[in-house]
Amino acid sequence: MSANTLSAGSEFFRKLLRFHPNSSTRTTSGALLYVRCARRHYLQCTLDDHVDNWPDNRFWDELKRRLDPRAADDLVIGPSIEKSIAPLRSFVAEPMRFGRLFLAGDAAHIVPPTGAKGLNLAASDVHYLANAFKEFYLDGSDAGIDDYSRKALLRVWKAERFSWWMTSVLHRFPGTDEFTSRIQRAELSYLVNSDAATRSLSENYVGLPF
Ligand SMILES: Cc1cc2nc3c(=O)[nH]c(=O)nc-3n(C[C@H](O)[C@H](O)[C@H](O)COP(=O)(O)OP(=O)(O)OC[C@H]3O[C@@H](n4cnc5c(N)ncnc54)[C@H](O)[C@@H]3O)c2cc1C
Repeated sequence: MSANTLSAGSEFFRKLLRFHPNSSTRTTSGALLYVRCARRHYLQCTLDDHVDNWPDNRFWDELKRRLDPRAADDLVIGPSIEKSIAPLRSFVAEPMRFGRLFLAGDAAHIVPPTGAKGLNLAASDVHYLANAFKEFYLDGSDAGIDDYSRKALLRVWKAERFSWWMTSVLHRFPGTDEFTSRIQRAELSYLVNSDAATRSLSENYVGLPF
């Protein structure tokens, strides 16, 4: 990953994370997904909410209300092509091998969509597993398949950590006390204003090496 990629990522996230001080409506878990052309937008909503309650106009109005004015002005809006409510979950099945059964992707681990890591993790699992099978079938060595779970889980837990952390920073949870809310705002403020923090976020968001 080049320094330019990281620095462009940092700038992107700085814009993304600039938050409006009055956006107090993100009150519960669950997320609404909106897709238009290559753009995808999320709004936090309750888990028992329903997509039918979110006609496009309501979605755009609410999104604009939660964004800071500059970001809201830049928003390109139009008809949606897909909407859904995604529950926010974190789960790891450990180990990722049971005898002759090898788990990969969502079968082994779930991350909340906040970090955009699910498909990336599935790809890295398959990368490790494909190499392990190659060693097994071509070289007659068990080393790769014996080490598969340990190797994959090293990356999985880092992505779980990042996705969980992104969720804890960008979402509000019911019953959160005042102290925790202030810590969350301090974390966001640090992210928006610190090169070191945005660089770390960008490194994880772009994806750790495998
Ligand atoms: C709203 C949302 C946004 C996301 N955004 C991102 C993102 O930006 N970046 C990212 O990296 N990840 C993202 N993900 C996660 C990503 O989609 C998944 O992690 C990824 O698709 C997992 O790949 P997989 O191959 O393990 O499972 P899947 O993609 O679910 O593939 C499993 C396949 O198995 C099939 N199947 C199931 N049961 C059977 C059966 N009994 N017999 C035969 N076939 C069966 C299913 O039909 C499916 O095609 C997102 C997920 C959601 C829900």
